[in-house]
Amino acid sequence: MANIIEFNGPVLVSADEERHGMWSVDGVLTFERPTATPDRVLDGWVLPGFVDAHCHIGLGAGGAVDDQVTLAQAQADLNAGTLLIRDCGSPSDTRWVQQRTDLPRLIRAGRHIARSRRYLRGLGHEIEPEQLVETVRKEARDGDGWVKLVGDWIDRGVGDLAESFPAKILKDAISAAHDEGARVTAHCFAEDTIDHMLDANIDCIEHATGLLPRHIPRLVDQAVPIVPTLVNIATFPDIAAQAASKFPVYAEHMMRLWERRRERVQEAFEAGVSIYAGTDAGSVIKHGRIADEMRELHDAGLPPVAVLEAAAWGARKWLGVEGISEGASADVVLCSADPRRHPETVSDLLHIVLRGGIAR
Ligand SMILES: [Zn+2]
Repeated sequence: MANIIEFNGPVLVSADEERHGMWSVDGVLTFERPTATPDRVLDGWVLPGFVDAHCHIGLGAGGAVDDQVTLAQAQADLNAGTLLIRDCGSPSDTRWVQQRTDLPRLIRAGRHIARSRRYLRGLGHEIEPEQLVETVRKEARDGDGWVKLVGDWIDRGVGDLAESFPAKILKDAISAAHDEGARVTAHCFAEDTIDHMLDANIDCIEHATGLLPRHIPRLVDQAVPIVPTLVNIATFPDIAAQAASKFPVYAEHMMRLWERRRERVQEAFEAGVSIYAGTDAGSVIKHGRIADEMRELHDAGLPPVAVLEAAAWGARKWLGVEGISEGASADVVLCSADPRRHPETVSDLLHIVLRGGIAR
């Protein structure tokens, strides 16, 4: 006997396509009524499962965590309705998560690639510029189509944010990843880092706190999205306060970046830059905060439909993972009201269905 769930409510296939009458039959979505009686009928407004486009599974404050902690992280994301994760760097081998049908789908980027002694200890491969091309090539082969660079970090000698790698070598490294069929994304806090990443044909910008008007037309022309991770940027004042006595220039820079965080996202959105929701859960941020990031994007000026594009419809398309369609995997969340008009409903989901299994 097939396992059948009936979805008894409007199905939001996309921002402007609403359907009625959808079922999950053995974990696969269909708009054709099955002949057998459903095992369960679920009420609510149906959306594709949320996407956390910047998350770290298997990573804690001190580096790699064990499988028990990794499991709890993935479960926390699942319980928030995150059914697809683009991992943005993890020192753990999390391939086993992909074998578990009860855990969110996971697209891995391998391990962060950072400059020696210029990143949080224990997280990344810490290398010198001459090792960049080969390291990127290796991570491109080991990951699931993404490579993560740490584009800038505090340089204690300079006393401010500084780029990790020279622009010329970045270009060669990103082109090596493209040869391997992988896309590259980069942690970018500072202004100039974004220029050089765009020069090097980067595929995505993480945080993008240094975004300036000069970058916006380039992001649009080169079709490079940003993942602002606003729940993480909210920690900048704390970082600045801790650094202020030793590194005043850096602290002041971080505060300036923090102050413009919303304005910057709104300008990018209005110009047509693609924006995706990412929590940066892992080292500092707790897992399961996708609804908080969606609210942050809304507070930055994105209308509710744009927030849902950032965390559901659009993000899935960008990552090449199906949303709601005939024959797609039943990875959906159900809201108590129309999330296009009641954005707060995403933080209190009625049901969560992953691969046809009812997680809530
Ligand atoms: Zn991150």
